[in-house]
Formats: sequence, C-alpha cells, structure tokens
Amino acid sequence: MIKFLDLQKINLLHQEEIESRLLKAFRSGWYLLGEEVKQFEKNLSHYIGAKHSIGVANGLDALRLIFKAYIEMGFMQPGDEVIVPANTYIASLLALTDNNLIPVLVEPDIKTYNIDIAKIEEKITQKTKAIMVVHLYGQVVFSDELTALAQKHNLKIVEDNAQAIGAVWNGTKTGNLGNAAGFSFYPGKNLGALGDAGAVTTNDDVLAKTIRALANYGSEEKYVNKHQGLNSRLDEMQAAVLDEKLKHLDTENDTRKAIAKYYIDNINNTAIMLPELPKNSNEHVWHLFVIRTANRDKLQQYLKENNIHTLIHYPIPPHKQAAYPQLNGLSLPITEQIHREVLSLPISPVLTTEEVQKVVDTVNNYQ
Ligand SMILES: *Cc1c(COP(=O)(O)O)cnc(C)c1O
Repeated sequence: MIKFLDLQKINLLHQEEIESRLLKAFRSGWYLLGEEVKQFEKNLSHYIGAKHSIGVANGLDALRLIFKAYIEMGFMQPGDEVIVPANTYIASLLALTDNNLIPVLVEPDIKTYNIDIAKIEEKITQKTKAIMVVHLYGQVVFSDELTALAQKHNLKIVEDNAQAIGAVWNGTKTGNLGNAAGFSFYPGKNLGALGDAGAVTTNDDVLAKTIRALANYGSEEKYVNKHQGLNSRLDEMQAAVLDEKLKHLDTENDTRKAIAKYYIDNINNTAIMLPELPKNSNEHVWHLFVIRTANRDKLQQYLKENNIHTLIHYPIPPHKQAAYPQLNGLSLPITEQIHREVLSLPISPVLTTEEVQKVVDTVNNYQ
C-alpha cells in the first residue's frame, strides 16, 4: 500500500536528532515560554526574513490572534469585512467569524486554485479592513496588483501560510509578503510537529507585542492583564522538534518539487487535469499534489484497488458547511466545481522513486 502520507517515516528520517532534542527539553524541567521556543522563534524569523515570530498553539489560533490583535489595536472592529478565498480550508474563515468579522468570499482562479486577485476589488466596501490570502496546496498567491489594491483601500494583507512554508515570491518568502502571517505545524504540514503547533510572523512591532500578550492571557507581565487574552502557547517539546526539523525543510521541499515535476512530466492520461508548474519553481512547495477529473470518486476507488491511498482537499467548501448557514445560499460555481473534481495524489519527502513510478503508471492506466 502506498500511503498518502507516512508520518512515521518522515519523522524517523531525523530520529536521532529529534529524540535528543526532546530528551533535552524533557530534562530541562521547563516546559512553556522557555529557551526552546525562543530559539525556534529566532530561527523561524531568520528563515522567513520577518522581524518577529511568535509561537502559538496551532495554525487556527495563529490566524485568530492576528485578527484579535488588529481589533485590540483599533484597526478593525466586530462587523468589519475581510476578503477571503472561497476555495480554502475552513480554518481561514473560522479565524474571522470567531472575531465577529464578516468573511467576504472570492472565487479562485481555476488554473491555480488560489484566490483570483482580479475579482477582489469588486468585493471591497467601506467596511473592508483586510485581505486574507491563502497559499493553497503550497503555491504562492501574490502580485504587485494585490499590494497596490491594499494600499489604495488601506487594507491589511494577512497570509494564511499553513500550507506553503518555504515558498518564495520575487525573492521574498511567504509569511513575509503581507502585514502578518499565520503558520500551522500540524503533523501533516511541510514542517510538522508531533502534535499541534503554530506561529505568527510579522514586521509590525505593535502587532507582534499585542499577539504575544493575547496568546498568554493578555499579559505582558505575569498576573497583570492588559487584554482579555487566551491561552495559546507553543510548548517547549514541540518547539524543540520544530527547530530541528526546520533545518531540513528546504531539502524536503526540494524532494516534493522533484516529485511534482515527475508527475507533471509523466502523467499523460487525458482524463486527468494536472496542476501547472509555476514559472519559478520556488513559488510552489507542493504541500499537496492536486489533480482534477470528471469522475473523481471512481478514480479514487480505482487507485485504492491498486493500493494507492489518496485524499480529497476538500470535499465540501466552507460556504456549503452546516457551520455557516448564512453562507449556504452563495453561488460560487468555480469553488464548487473544484470541490467536486479534486483528488490529492501521494506526495512527501519519503515517497520512493518506485512508489512515484507506480502512481504514474497506475494513473496512466486508468480508463
Ligand atoms: C492546516 C491549516 C490551517 C489550520 O492549522 P491548524 O494547525 O490545524 O489549526 C489553516 N489554514 C489552512 C489553509 C490549513 O491548511
């Protein structure tokens, strides 16, 4: 069986280093807000090129905290609108609605699955305060037009960088393109912890300070609470693991890029729509390799019978979820088509050449 993602194999790639870092953190007797987190934040800032990194409990909290901080700072208030891609994981919307902000959904570009930047301006109103971009499946979405649009309407650009750590646009890493970015280190992400973990990066000193306080009970000084905060901290054990794995991220992303290129060069079944290679290979870190086909469920069943495990990212778009009755009536045909047709093939730094070849041959033999 070719697994969709073999997390055991991925983490055992660096078994000795990870085990020794875990042991060190365990034996230190200090488990929160300590040296491991400090070290990881420093290295993450350096890697991304951003002035500040704040470790938090998970990716959803990273995004929630950015918007909570903007409200706390008076830049936004409940009831304000934020542009968000319709084709995304539900966390992008939850970060807004949890702060009583209104998500305004914009259709994707069918070629990249990312938000169609040309369709943003028509959705901007007096109440719009930010644009959230999601570098979906690992591919950067950014342009000079987007920056100009944000400037023209005085909007913040917030990146949901949960899927694209390591991707680069025009010499700048994702996570350093907008005003702030949320990262997820969920175990299956390109940089995965051994449990939940996340981070925020930004160059904004006030925002960084506010988020750091909000994530720790709204407190900058112990038992003095400036804000009504939450408890959303990255712990020392996860930080130690992430700090070790960050060293190998570029190499692992390169393996993903090579597999994606091999799939694109060698899958030639006309029933299958392949993703396009970006103009610059650094613009995609291939968190997921997503294909489209008319009868998706049939292809998934066929691959399963041939011992290839696939997943669907995602089967139901956010606006069709029971969680959002207020959005259920929206018509977003491109988003809906994508959700009907997509299938994610296995891609990871531990997939072998033989496994990649078997996926190619099996997909090519599908009728
Ligand atoms: C994984 C993910 C998140 C949320 O991250 P968690 O760590 O699971 O909370 C947010 N947005 C996107 C696009 C994701 O893929």
